[in-house]
Amino acid sequence: MRNLLLFCGLVLAAVSCAPSPSGPTTSWKRDYWGHRAGPKGFATVILDAGHGGKDSGAVSGSTGAMEKNLALDTVKRVQAKLRGRANVILMRSDDTFVDLDERVNRASRRDGTILVSIHYNSGPSRMRGPELYWWRVDSWGLATRLQRNLEAAVPGESGNRGQVRRRLRLTRNPNVPSVLVECGYLSNPAEARMCNNAGYRDKLASAIADAILDQQREGDPAGSLPRPINAPPSRPTDPPGS
Ligand SMILES: [Zn+2]
Repeated sequence: MRNLLLFCGLVLAAVSCAPSPSGPTTSWKRDYWGHRAGPKGFATVILDAGHGGKDSGAVSGSTGAMEKNLALDTVKRVQAKLRGRANVILMRSDDTFVDLDERVNRASRRDGTILVSIHYNSGPSRMRGPELYWWRVDSWGLATRLQRNLEAAVPGESGNRGQVRRRLRLTRNPNVPSVLVECGYLSNPAEARMCNNAGYRDKLASAIADAILDQQREGDPAGSLPRPINAPPSRPTDPPGS
């Protein structure tokens, strides 16, 4: 325990000494814990289309659409909207399977970046609306901006969880600010129909791109930062929701 406390102290000291970003040319460094304000002026955005290949993700019972395809389409729309304003890297650009830990490793290798993972949700059929998952303190502002923009773009919500701080492999484990977007519930017939429409997905993509650009330009929105939490990396064997 003493060694652990010493280690945490050293990490926190290193974090507090790190230069804070002050403009668009500042490189945003990787950080193990992310106990700091959110990024501003980051040059690179990693867009991660959830699932892929053998992993379809959620499949809508009413439209038959697969989450992996809707997520990839949405990611490409966000990429187009960020063109010229950020260097965009796609975690996958076609229907291939990429292991979750490999996604984390790819994001964690880069300074000056953020990770935005895009998914479509599944649950009880009454639930509909966007959800935003985050864990690190430096990801709170981006999550807040994304959830706000998506709520404004989506015509109906019911029983959805909104913005949730949850320790997931993609929110806890990368060394860079990282969020997971659930655009809508494919298990809700009305929302599944909307998500199947290219024009609607384009609207969602605009909401996501605008939130990323606002964060890039202004840093965190007004409000107090959440408390830092020192928790171990998320593992596939962890119970759901832990
Ligand atoms: Zn998913």
